[in-house]
Amino acid sequence: MKQECCKKIRLWGIIFLTSLFFAGCQAEDTSGEYEQETTQEDVQTEKSQSTDTGEIHSYTQSDIAMGTIVTSNIYTTGEDVNSEIFDVLKQVENTYISWREEDSEIARLNASAGNEQGVEISGKLEEMLQATLDISEKSSGALDPTLGKISRLWDIDGENPRVPAQEEITSLLKADGYKNVFCENQKAVLPADISIDLGAVGKGIGCDEVRSFLENHQEITGAVISVGGSILTYGAKENDSLWGVAITDPLSGGENYMGVLYLEGENYVSTSGDYEKYFEQDGVRYHHILDPKTGYPARSGLTSVTIVAKNGLLSDGLSTACFVLGLEEGMKLVETYNAEAIFIDTDQNVYATDGLQDKFELTSKETYHLQELQQ
Ligand code: ADP
Ligand code: MG
Repeated sequence: MKQECCKKIRLWGIIFLTSLFFAGCQAEDTSGEYEQETTQEDVQTEKSQSTDTGEIHSYTQSDIAMGTIVTSNIYTTGEDVNSEIFDVLKQVENTYISWREEDSEIARLNASAGNEQGVEISGKLEEMLQATLDISEKSSGALDPTLGKISRLWDIDGENPRVPAQEEITSLLKADGYKNVFCENQKAVLPADISIDLGAVGKGIGCDEVRSFLENHQEITGAVISVGGSILTYGAKENDSLWGVAITDPLSGGENYMGVLYLEGENYVSTSGDYEKYFEQDGVRYHHILDPKTGYPARSGLTSVTIVAKNGLLSDGLSTACFVLGLEEGMKLVETYNAEAIFIDTDQNVYATDGLQDKFELTSKETYHLQELQQ
């Protein structure tokens, strides 16, 4: 059934869920074989040939935004607006969510920590915070945006990653830190020792913002934007083909894919994995997804979680939360949000929710084994 469905589709656009080591990859399959074409870490713009009708053109651009490699590919009857899409991403980062940007709303909120009056925040940031805190609540704190200080301690994606001393972690670790964030009526209050880091949902928020931009551009008939590990698919390519989203093979260090999700129209897909950002010391891998209960990299028996959800903040937040929770609790959380998921565990078992059974094709069958989910 899955095979049949696959054969019917004539043109695949394969988008790799990117990692730190993978600059972003696209491949098209017109011959039954996937061809991979990687982009470099510098800015690239590429215009493809026009389609049969001569009307829809595709334009691709890769650049750094939101601290990661972004690739934007649009199908349009109009102009190449990829640079505007990059502006949208840079704007949401600088205006709202970057704790590094002094003037961003999050930076101002963090600077106000300890001030009982709190600060005024925009309705937009309030929505982002509320949605993030809702995932924190429903995941029993597996996603905790107040982990910022502990992430800084590890500095896993920075210049000097290191294993902090247990005392350093203990001194900064708060049980259920997210419960101390007050946010209502466009006002937010943080206690003195808390700061917010929206890193676990930021790239998904970027996808949501790009979606709003596309909505105002009727001439864009299809688009696929990959912001690090979060992807937005929108509309269709020419010939109404499906979008193919390749799931990175965690064992390949992000270089290959182990399966492909075939999706129609608008989707938000995010992957969190232990191969994305990490360093090794004494044979142990320390990766960037932390367990808020311990302050150490989460060891839940999973190597990768991919979520398909109704918006980008949700797919990104859930992928991080589910990675921390592990298979059983993670799948319950996915169900709570009516999302879909693919989990890969450390024994190379692969679990897909019902809604993805006919949409996921395992390509690395020698290495990975599809397993039934226990109900
Ligand atoms: P990526 O940023 O590579 O897409 P994730 O979406 O999984 O990966 O987010 C991981 C980032 O979120 C980390 O780099 C860190 O800043 C932050 N983080 C790590 N663990 C958690 C957690 N349990 N809850 C909230 N944020 C986290
Ligand atoms: Mg995430």
